[in-house]
Amino acid sequence: MQFGVCYYPEQWPEPRWEIDAALMADLGLDLVRVAEFAWSSYEPQRNQFTFEWLDRALETLTRHGLRVVMGTPTATPPVWLARERPDILSVGSDGRRRSYGSRRHTCTTSAAYREEAARIVGELLGRYGNHDAIVAWQVDNEMGNHDSARCWCEECQAAFSAWLQMRFGSVDALNEAWGTAFWSMTYPDFESVQLPVPTMTSHHPALRLAHAKFASDQSIGFLRLQFGQVRAVVPDGVAITTNFYSEDTAVDQRAAARLSGLAAMDNYPQGPQDPMTTAYHLDLTLWAGGLDGSAWIMEQQAGPINWTEKNPQVPDGQVRVWAWQAALHGYDAVLFFRWRASRYAQEMYHSGLLRHDGSPTGAVAEIKAAIAEIAATDLDTPTPKVALLQSYKDVWAIEINPHRAGLTHRSMQLDAYVAARRLGLDVAIVDSMDDLSEFEWVLAPALHITTPERISALEAALDAGAKVVLGPRAMVMDRENAWSEEALPGGMTGLLGARVVETLSQTADVRVDPWGTKAGIWTEVFEVNDAEVIATYSGGTYLDGRPAAVRKANLYYAGFSNVASWTRLLASLTGREPSSRHVETFERGDRVFSIDHKALTVENRRVDHASEAP
Ligand SMILES: [Zn+2]
Repeated sequence: MQFGVCYYPEQWPEPRWEIDAALMADLGLDLVRVAEFAWSSYEPQRNQFTFEWLDRALETLTRHGLRVVMGTPTATPPVWLARERPDILSVGSDGRRRSYGSRRHTCTTSAAYREEAARIVGELLGRYGNHDAIVAWQVDNEMGNHDSARCWCEECQAAFSAWLQMRFGSVDALNEAWGTAFWSMTYPDFESVQLPVPTMTSHHPALRLAHAKFASDQSIGFLRLQFGQVRAVVPDGVAITTNFYSEDTAVDQRAAARLSGLAAMDNYPQGPQDPMTTAYHLDLTLWAGGLDGSAWIMEQQAGPINWTEKNPQVPDGQVRVWAWQAALHGYDAVLFFRWRASRYAQEMYHSGLLRHDGSPTGAVAEIKAAIAEIAATDLDTPTPKVALLQSYKDVWAIEINPHRAGLTHRSMQLDAYVAARRLGLDVAIVDSMDDLSEFEWVLAPALHITTPERISALEAALDAGAKVVLGPRAMVMDRENAWSEEALPGGMTGLLGARVVETLSQTADVRVDPWGTKAGIWTEVFEVNDAEVIATYSGGTYLDGRPAAVRKANLYYAGFSNVASWTRLLASLTGREPSSRHVETFERGDRVFSIDHKALTVENRRVDHASEAP
């Protein structure tokens, strides 16, 4: 496992670089990410390149044994470019063109921006494509962050019409698939299908899902061009990736990771606030590149951040625990953000490993200790037997039609994920079209969209011997976000021996028996044909005694949306006992590691139960 840091030599006086590089090497770091926001520092005016400072920065880092992750700079184009070619700038749903002066203000569809991106990446590759110190390239940065993936410019409008035409062939086919007879929304031609600009009330859910897919596709197309450019130049063995902020869902992270097989995420646990949510995001990115893929944390929080509501302190011991959590989840590299707190601009209150004055924070000693501890520990790669099915189309479809405030795709995913983790099970978060044949358990809450391909994939998993557990909002919509014509779960009722006949937003204190746990804010009601009832609702006048979970052979369906109920369900099915929610355990070879996220301790013991500190 490698460790590193994000460094901005262009923001510090050159005589300081030597001191910084020596400190990084002393800390035991391997990797330094540079230049992903440095465009205006090496091209201050069109075609006037000043790469010499970056040459010297790389030379300084290399001399101290550090290796480099080179960023392409397309998340922050320079002011002169925005002034010269304003058509690179994206447009909001209000029709206003976004301004320079911050970041991520460009349109990924814009022909001008694609041309400028190819030009600057070509320049960068011409100079550094074969540089000995560079072991990885990071393309762009946090695609989709700040709600930047969706654009309403004229080029996006034209591209959206073409995208729809390619998809449907005829506008009649679109009208039929979307059911536009509703509210007299029938489109006379593709050009009439507007990007979803503000309307009197909500927009058509099929249009919104199409727009979400289209916008993600445009971002992936933009990334694909750069991945191709970089791959064509750099030596074999140099890694290529792009990094996503863990909470962002507007761009299909899995599609991006599969451009190279290496996924990357930016991990700020004080964003989601909950260690199990952090664990979920770690596993989501880890498996994004495929079952053989690998993943890096390109930015790891190492102190207080500056962009949440409260930005609390980071307690002593926390940074070490975050490093261990990444290692135990199976990450190959962790780069801490950032080396030194900035004296300027938008992130002044974001901490660094060094304070603004250059003195070390407490995180430095913790990182040094964690690097030594983890290097001295033989950690087997996780080999999960549990798959949790996730797709961005399901995320978007439920975001568009949540039906109940507070009910999200992620909240339903977390019910099952946290339950499995509390039982000490590693979880691979994968797509339903991935190879599921090696998994013993396939968990599928909020698998919202039903397609013939999905049904076949679940049937294949059952045929291979897996136990498949569907959960709330499973297989409701067709691929265009129209309600399935079949009984629910669409296409699976025969195998389940039951069907979902009602879906209820819950306000009463409904429980699930035999466990007495809460049912959650979403409950589904079954009509049972030849399934076994394995749990029932109690406490709600209407739901009292009705089935809450059913099973036929190896296919299960849980109708509730609460983590305690999911934990009891999976505990009863696996014969395991749950840990506390703040304790994560990892079975690795002949040892069991446990992280107590409240006490901030990491311990391991042999399977024979002899305890010792790592
Ligand atoms: Zn656009």
